[in-house]
Amino acid sequence: MCVGRVDVRFRVFLLLVLFTTACQGTSREPLVFSGEAAYAHVEAQCDLGPRPTGSSANRAVGDYIISVLEDEGWAVETQEFAYRDTPVRNIVGKAGEGPVVILGAHYDTRRQADQEDPTQPVLGANDGASGVAVLLELARVLDLDRVDRQVWLAFFDAEDNGRLDGWEWCVGSSYMANHLEVVPEAVVVVDMVGDADQQFYFEGNSDPTLQQELWEIAATLGYTETFRSEYRWTIYDDHVPFAQRSIPAVDIIDFDYPYWHTTQDTPDKVSPASLERVGRVLEVWLEGAP
Ligand SMILES: [Zn+2]
Repeated sequence: MCVGRVDVRFRVFLLLVLFTTACQGTSREPLVFSGEAAYAHVEAQCDLGPRPTGSSANRAVGDYIISVLEDEGWAVETQEFAYRDTPVRNIVGKAGEGPVVILGAHYDTRRQADQEDPTQPVLGANDGASGVAVLLELARVLDLDRVDRQVWLAFFDAEDNGRLDGWEWCVGSSYMANHLEVVPEAVVVVDMVGDADQQFYFEGNSDPTLQQELWEIAATLGYTETFRSEYRWTIYDDHVPFAQRSIPAVDIIDFDYPYWHTTQDTPDKVSPASLERVGRVLEVWLEGAP
């Protein structure tokens, strides 16, 4: 019958619609780290001006970090304390399940551009904003179903005013390392990772095994020109307070940056492609090969 045939066709059509919808619901395109999206976070931070610990711009950039993390569904915790009468705030976004790994970056900027003109502050496009930008873009793209660990995205305050008025380096990360209630399996710090002329070398205070693992992932992604398998610098950075507690910790840092601690550390020195290389390495490290 005519009616019966229409009915059957309609049922088949409905089934197809349901099947297609179900497929779309379960097999969405995996998100991949975008250098352009990360670069937008560099610009957003620098639009706030220099962001030294205790300043209103520092508070504002912390609020920006918290809002991005919450929008991406991360549980946010803060650690607030005073250092030399100055308020300090670490921010941590947590997601996933399993042993803890920490990805860290400092979000404060140096209050004196003492490599050039100590009367001026540093804007910190690379020294500060680049590492934060990589972590915030990871907050968007990490597929936690593919990560068998609990990820902490840690944003350290008060890293970058060492030797100014008797301040120490790495105040925020030291505080976090001193107040851990669980021992992380690994810590990877990203600092000064956005230089358009990017070179990373093995760093002397980093865990050699974990460092090798990260550099091998970079090689599989074709980044051997930027991730060089030779030692060059030994740096006291936010990874050291964790390394001192025997936690495997690595600092991914490009210390060959002519604008370091000058007024010239501005967004035009940072490139989306550089941010993307670092972000992809961390993404593959956590998720496994694509
Ligand atoms: Zn610095």
